[in-house]
Amino acid sequence: WHASQPLPRWLKTDIPIGPNYSRIRGNLRDLKLHTVCEEAKCPNISECWGGGEHQTATATIMLMGDECTRACRFCSVKTSKTPKPLDPNEPESTAEAVSRWGVDYIVLTSVDRDDLADGGSAHFAQTIRHLKEKAPHILVECLTGDFQGNLEHVAQVAQSGLDVYAHNLETVEDLQRFVRDRRAGYRQSLSVLEHAKKVQPGLFTKTSIMLGCGEKDEEVEHLRAIDVDFLTLGQYMRPTRKHMKVSEYVPPEKFAHWQQVGEQLGFKYVASGPLVRSSYKAGEFFISNIIK
Ligand code: SF4
Ligand code: SF4
Repeated sequence: WHASQPLPRWLKTDIPIGPNYSRIRGNLRDLKLHTVCEEAKCPNISECWGGGEHQTATATIMLMGDECTRACRFCSVKTSKTPKPLDPNEPESTAEAVSRWGVDYIVLTSVDRDDLADGGSAHFAQTIRHLKEKAPHILVECLTGDFQGNLEHVAQVAQSGLDVYAHNLETVEDLQRFVRDRRAGYRQSLSVLEHAKKVQPGLFTKTSIMLGCGEKDEEVEHLRAIDVDFLTLGQYMRPTRKHMKVSEYVPPEKFAHWQQVGEQLGFKYVASGPLVRSSYKAGEFFISNIIK
Protein backbone atom coordinates (compact mmCIF):
# COMPACT_ATOMS: atom_id res chain seq x y z
CA TRP A 1 0.00 0.00 0.00
CA HIS A 2 1.10 3.56 -0.37
CA ALA A 3 1.79 5.95 2.47
CA SER A 4 -0.33 8.70 0.90
CA GLN A 5 -3.38 6.77 2.06
CA PRO A 6 -3.29 6.43 5.86
CA LEU A 7 -4.10 2.94 7.07
CA PRO A 8 -7.06 2.37 9.36
CA ARG A 9 -6.30 0.71 12.71
CA TRP A 10 -7.66 -2.73 11.73
CA LEU A 11 -4.95 -3.11 9.09
CA LYS A 12 -2.16 -2.48 11.59
CA THR A 13 -2.79 -5.27 14.11
CA ASP A 14 -0.06 -7.69 15.23
CA ILE A 15 -0.62 -11.27 14.24
CA PRO A 16 0.38 -14.07 16.63
CA ILE A 17 2.99 -16.59 15.48
CA GLY A 18 1.60 -20.13 15.27
CA PRO A 19 3.33 -23.32 16.42
CA ASN A 20 4.76 -24.50 13.07
CA TYR A 21 6.11 -21.18 11.90
CA SER A 22 9.73 -21.51 13.08
CA ARG A 23 10.07 -25.07 11.83
CA ILE A 24 8.73 -24.22 8.34
CA ARG A 25 10.93 -21.16 8.13
CA GLY A 26 14.02 -23.05 9.30
CA ASN A 27 13.50 -25.85 6.77
CA LEU A 28 13.18 -23.40 3.89
CA ARG A 29 16.82 -22.26 3.86
CA ASP A 30 18.40 -25.05 1.82
CA LEU A 31 15.49 -25.78 -0.48
CA LYS A 32 15.83 -22.84 -2.89
CA LEU A 33 12.07 -22.31 -2.95
CA HIS A 34 10.68 -18.86 -3.68
CA THR A 35 7.57 -18.33 -1.67
CA VAL A 36 5.07 -15.61 -2.41
CA CYS A 37 4.54 -15.50 1.36
CA GLU A 38 8.06 -14.15 1.97
CA GLU A 39 8.66 -12.26 -1.26
CA ALA A 40 5.38 -10.34 -1.04
CA LYS A 41 5.93 -9.83 2.72
CA CYS A 42 2.46 -11.19 3.23
CA PRO A 43 1.00 -10.12 6.59
CA ASN A 44 -0.56 -13.56 7.04
CA ILE A 45 2.67 -15.54 7.02
CA SER A 46 2.72 -16.45 10.70
CA GLU A 47 -0.89 -17.63 10.57
CA CYS A 48 -0.51 -19.58 7.32
CA TRP A 49 2.82 -21.18 8.19
CA GLY A 50 1.88 -21.49 11.84
CA GLY A 51 -0.96 -23.80 10.97
CA GLY A 52 -3.71 -22.69 13.39
CA GLU A 53 -5.97 -25.04 15.31
CA HIS A 54 -5.47 -28.01 12.99
CA GLN A 55 -1.76 -27.24 12.55
CA THR A 56 -2.26 -27.35 8.80
CA ALA A 57 0.51 -25.22 7.34
CA THR A 58 -0.14 -23.48 4.01
CA ALA A 59 2.39 -21.78 1.73
CA THR A 60 2.34 -20.35 -1.79
CA ILE A 61 5.01 -20.92 -4.45
CA MET A 62 5.36 -18.90 -7.64
CA LEU A 63 6.24 -20.87 -10.80
CA MET A 64 7.45 -19.68 -14.22
CA GLY A 65 9.50 -16.68 -13.15
CA ASP A 66 8.70 -13.24 -11.86
CA GLU A 67 7.84 -11.37 -15.08
CA CYS A 68 4.22 -11.25 -16.17
CA THR A 69 2.96 -10.61 -19.69
CA ARG A 70 0.01 -8.68 -18.25
CA ALA A 71 -0.31 -5.43 -16.34
CA CYS A 72 -3.24 -5.40 -13.94
CA ARG A 73 -3.71 -2.05 -12.23
CA PHE A 74 -3.59 -3.45 -8.70
CA CYS A 75 -0.59 -5.75 -9.03
CA SER A 76 3.08 -5.07 -8.29
CA VAL A 77 4.55 -7.94 -10.32
CA LYS A 78 6.88 -6.74 -13.14
CA THR A 79 5.49 -6.71 -16.68
CA SER A 80 7.43 -7.99 -19.69
CA LYS A 81 6.40 -8.90 -23.25
CA THR A 82 9.28 -11.36 -23.38
CA PRO A 83 9.75 -13.05 -20.01
CA LYS A 84 12.64 -15.47 -19.56
CA PRO A 85 12.11 -18.98 -20.97
CA LEU A 86 10.74 -21.62 -18.62
CA ASP A 87 13.16 -23.71 -16.61
CA PRO A 88 12.38 -27.27 -17.76
CA ASN A 89 13.67 -28.63 -14.44
CA GLU A 90 11.38 -26.47 -12.36
CA PRO A 91 8.44 -28.92 -12.11
CA GLU A 92 10.61 -31.70 -10.71
CA SER A 93 12.87 -29.57 -8.54
CA THR A 94 9.91 -27.68 -7.05
CA ALA A 95 8.10 -30.92 -6.31
CA GLU A 96 11.20 -32.37 -4.67
CA ALA A 97 11.75 -29.28 -2.51
CA VAL A 98 8.11 -28.97 -1.47
CA SER A 99 7.93 -32.67 -0.59
CA ARG A 100 10.86 -32.21 1.82
CA TRP A 101 9.69 -28.94 3.28
CA GLY A 102 7.03 -29.87 5.83
CA VAL A 103 3.93 -28.00 4.67
CA ASP A 104 0.57 -29.77 4.45
CA TYR A 105 -1.11 -27.61 1.83
CA ILE A 106 0.70 -25.96 -1.04
CA VAL A 107 -0.63 -23.33 -3.41
CA LEU A 108 1.13 -23.26 -6.78
CA THR A 109 0.65 -20.04 -8.65
CA SER A 110 2.36 -18.17 -11.47
CA VAL A 111 2.58 -15.01 -13.45
CA ASP A 112 0.51 -14.98 -16.65
CA ARG A 113 2.52 -16.31 -19.57
CA ASP A 114 0.61 -15.24 -22.68
CA ASP A 115 3.92 -15.62 -24.55
CA LEU A 116 3.78 -19.42 -24.25
CA ALA A 117 1.66 -21.46 -26.67
CA ASP A 118 -0.10 -23.25 -23.82
CA GLY A 119 0.11 -20.42 -21.27
CA GLY A 120 2.21 -22.74 -19.07
CA SER A 121 -0.54 -25.32 -18.50
CA ALA A 122 1.78 -28.29 -19.17
CA HIS A 123 4.32 -26.85 -16.73
CA PHE A 124 1.66 -26.59 -14.00
CA ALA A 125 0.40 -30.11 -14.73
CA GLN A 126 3.89 -31.62 -14.60
CA THR A 127 4.65 -29.92 -11.30
CA ILE A 128 1.44 -31.29 -9.77
CA ARG A 129 2.10 -34.82 -11.04
CA HIS A 130 5.65 -34.86 -9.69
CA LEU A 131 4.49 -33.49 -6.36
CA LYS A 132 1.65 -35.98 -5.94
CA GLU A 133 4.07 -38.82 -6.79
CA LYS A 134 6.62 -37.70 -4.23
CA ALA A 135 4.25 -36.57 -1.49
CA PRO A 136 0.67 -37.78 -2.02
CA HIS A 137 -0.34 -36.52 1.44
CA ILE A 138 0.22 -32.86 0.51
CA LEU A 139 -2.97 -31.13 -0.62
CA VAL A 140 -2.36 -29.11 -3.78
CA GLU A 141 -4.17 -25.98 -4.90
CA CYS A 142 -3.31 -24.24 -8.17
CA LEU A 143 -4.08 -20.58 -8.61
CA THR A 144 -3.87 -20.11 -12.36
CA GLY A 145 -4.44 -17.35 -14.86
CA ASP A 146 -7.23 -17.59 -17.42
CA PHE A 147 -5.18 -19.20 -20.24
CA GLN A 148 -6.91 -16.61 -22.43
CA GLY A 149 -10.06 -18.70 -22.07
CA ASN A 150 -8.48 -21.75 -23.78
CA LEU A 151 -10.43 -24.58 -22.16
CA GLU A 152 -8.05 -27.34 -23.27
CA HIS A 153 -5.33 -25.69 -21.25
CA VAL A 154 -7.66 -25.36 -18.27
CA ALA A 155 -8.48 -29.08 -18.57
CA GLN A 156 -4.81 -30.01 -18.65
CA VAL A 157 -4.34 -28.48 -15.18
CA ALA A 158 -7.71 -29.62 -13.84
CA GLN A 159 -6.97 -33.26 -14.71
CA SER A 160 -3.43 -33.41 -13.36
CA GLY A 161 -4.27 -34.63 -9.86
CA LEU A 162 -4.70 -31.42 -7.88
CA ASP A 163 -7.25 -30.94 -5.10
CA VAL A 164 -8.39 -27.33 -5.59
CA TYR A 165 -8.53 -25.28 -8.78
CA ALA A 166 -8.41 -21.57 -8.00
CA HIS A 167 -8.79 -18.70 -10.39
CA ASN A 168 -9.51 -15.18 -9.22
CA LEU A 169 -12.24 -12.94 -10.56
CA GLU A 170 -10.41 -10.15 -8.66
CA THR A 171 -13.36 -7.73 -8.74
CA VAL A 172 -17.04 -7.40 -9.60
CA GLU A 173 -18.17 -7.60 -13.21
CA ASP A 174 -18.55 -3.85 -13.82
CA LEU A 175 -15.02 -2.99 -12.64
CA GLN A 176 -13.15 -5.64 -14.62
CA ARG A 177 -11.91 -3.27 -17.32
CA PHE A 178 -10.71 -0.75 -14.80
CA VAL A 179 -8.94 -3.17 -12.46
CA ARG A 180 -7.59 -6.05 -14.57
CA ASP A 181 -5.47 -6.25 -17.69
CA ARG A 182 -7.58 -5.76 -20.83
CA ARG A 183 -7.05 -9.41 -21.85
CA ALA A 184 -8.88 -10.60 -18.72
CA GLY A 185 -12.65 -10.63 -18.28
CA TYR A 186 -15.39 -11.74 -15.90
CA ARG A 187 -17.15 -14.14 -18.28
CA GLN A 188 -13.82 -15.59 -19.44
CA SER A 189 -12.78 -16.19 -15.84
CA LEU A 190 -16.12 -17.80 -15.00
CA SER A 191 -15.71 -20.14 -17.96
CA VAL A 192 -12.31 -21.24 -16.57
CA LEU A 193 -13.86 -22.15 -13.21
CA GLU A 194 -16.86 -23.88 -14.77
CA HIS A 195 -14.73 -25.91 -17.15
CA ALA A 196 -12.35 -27.12 -14.45
CA LYS A 197 -15.28 -28.68 -12.59
CA LYS A 198 -16.89 -30.00 -15.73
CA VAL A 199 -13.85 -32.00 -16.84
CA GLN A 200 -12.95 -33.14 -13.33
CA PRO A 201 -16.10 -33.60 -11.24
CA GLY A 202 -15.19 -33.73 -7.56
CA LEU A 203 -12.49 -31.12 -7.97
CA PHE A 204 -13.05 -28.11 -5.69
CA THR A 205 -13.01 -24.65 -7.25
CA LYS A 206 -12.22 -21.38 -5.60
CA THR A 207 -12.22 -17.68 -6.42
CA SER A 208 -11.26 -14.43 -4.79
CA ILE A 209 -12.44 -10.83 -4.89
CA MET A 210 -10.74 -7.67 -3.60
CA LEU A 211 -12.99 -5.13 -1.92
CA GLY A 212 -12.30 -1.42 -1.75
CA CYS A 213 -11.95 -0.95 -5.54
CA GLY A 214 -15.16 1.04 -5.90
CA GLU A 215 -17.65 -1.83 -6.09
CA LYS A 216 -21.25 -1.38 -4.97
CA ASP A 217 -22.94 -3.70 -2.48
CA GLU A 218 -25.44 -4.99 -5.02
CA GLU A 219 -22.55 -5.89 -7.35
CA VAL A 220 -20.95 -7.97 -4.60
CA GLU A 221 -24.29 -9.69 -4.04
CA HIS A 222 -24.18 -10.80 -7.68
CA LEU A 223 -21.57 -13.32 -6.61
CA ARG A 224 -24.53 -15.63 -6.10
CA ALA A 225 -24.38 -16.27 -9.84
CA ILE A 226 -21.03 -18.02 -9.42
CA ASP A 227 -21.03 -21.76 -8.96
CA VAL A 228 -17.72 -22.24 -7.16
CA ASP A 229 -17.02 -24.01 -3.87
CA PHE A 230 -14.82 -21.58 -1.95
CA LEU A 231 -14.82 -17.79 -1.85
CA THR A 232 -12.32 -15.38 -0.31
CA LEU A 233 -12.79 -11.64 0.11
CA GLY A 234 -10.02 -9.23 1.20
CA GLN A 235 -9.12 -5.54 1.17
CA TYR A 236 -7.31 -4.13 -1.88
CA MET A 237 -4.02 -2.51 -0.77
CA ARG A 238 -2.25 -0.12 -3.14
CA PRO A 239 1.30 -1.43 -3.72
CA THR A 240 2.80 1.87 -5.00
CA ARG A 241 1.71 5.31 -6.16
CA LYS A 242 1.64 4.01 -9.75
CA HIS A 243 -1.13 1.57 -8.96
CA MET A 244 -4.83 2.32 -8.74
CA LYS A 245 -6.06 4.07 -5.62
CA VAL A 246 -7.95 2.40 -2.82
CA SER A 247 -11.56 3.62 -3.08
CA GLU A 248 -12.48 2.56 0.43
CA TYR A 249 -11.06 0.77 3.46
CA VAL A 250 -13.88 -1.63 4.13
CA PRO A 251 -14.35 -2.05 7.90
CA PRO A 252 -14.11 -5.50 9.54
CA GLU A 253 -17.86 -5.48 10.32
CA LYS A 254 -18.62 -5.22 6.63
CA PHE A 255 -16.32 -8.15 5.90
CA ALA A 256 -18.20 -10.11 8.59
CA HIS A 257 -21.43 -9.22 6.77
CA TRP A 258 -20.05 -10.55 3.46
CA GLN A 259 -18.91 -13.69 5.26
CA GLN A 260 -22.52 -14.33 6.31
CA VAL A 261 -23.90 -13.47 2.89
CA GLY A 262 -21.41 -15.85 1.24
CA GLU A 263 -22.33 -18.65 3.61
CA GLN A 264 -26.03 -18.08 2.96
CA LEU A 265 -25.35 -18.25 -0.77
CA GLY A 266 -24.09 -21.79 -0.27
CA PHE A 267 -20.31 -21.57 -0.70
CA LYS A 268 -18.64 -24.50 1.08
CA TYR A 269 -16.38 -22.05 2.84
CA VAL A 270 -15.94 -18.31 2.83
CA ALA A 271 -12.90 -16.45 4.18
CA SER A 272 -13.68 -12.74 4.46
CA GLY A 273 -11.55 -10.15 6.24
CA PRO A 274 -9.39 -7.10 5.59
CA LEU A 275 -6.13 -9.09 5.44
CA VAL A 276 -7.52 -12.18 3.74
CA ARG A 277 -5.74 -13.14 0.52
CA SER A 278 -6.65 -15.86 -1.94
CA SER A 279 -4.49 -18.47 -0.21
CA TYR A 280 -5.08 -17.25 3.37
CA LYS A 281 -4.98 -20.30 5.69
CA ALA A 282 -6.22 -22.34 2.76
CA GLY A 283 -5.15 -25.67 4.29
CA GLU A 284 -6.75 -24.84 7.63
CA PHE A 285 -10.08 -23.95 5.98
CA PHE A 286 -9.96 -26.99 3.73
CA ILE A 287 -9.35 -29.40 6.60
CA SER A 288 -11.97 -27.89 8.88
CA ASN A 289 -14.71 -27.52 6.26
CA ILE A 290 -14.14 -30.33 3.80
CA ILE A 291 -12.26 -33.20 5.41
CA LYS A 292 -13.55 -32.64 8.99
FE1 SF4 B 1 1.45 -17.18 1.89
FE2 SF4 B 1 -0.96 -16.81 0.78
FE3 SF4 B 1 -0.77 -17.20 3.38
FE4 SF4 B 1 0.08 -14.94 2.37
S1 SF4 B 1 -2.03 -15.64 2.41
S2 SF4 B 1 1.18 -16.18 3.87
S3 SF4 B 1 0.91 -15.61 0.39
S4 SF4 B 1 -0.21 -18.68 1.79
FE1 SF4 C 1 -0.35 -9.53 -11.56
FE2 SF4 C 1 -1.60 -11.80 -12.25
FE3 SF4 C 1 -2.29 -9.46 -13.40
FE4 SF4 C 1 0.07 -10.62 -13.93
S1 SF4 C 1 -2.00 -11.43 -14.42
S2 SF4 C 1 -0.28 -8.45 -13.53
S3 SF4 C 1 0.62 -11.51 -11.94
S4 SF4 C 1 -2.55 -10.04 -11.22
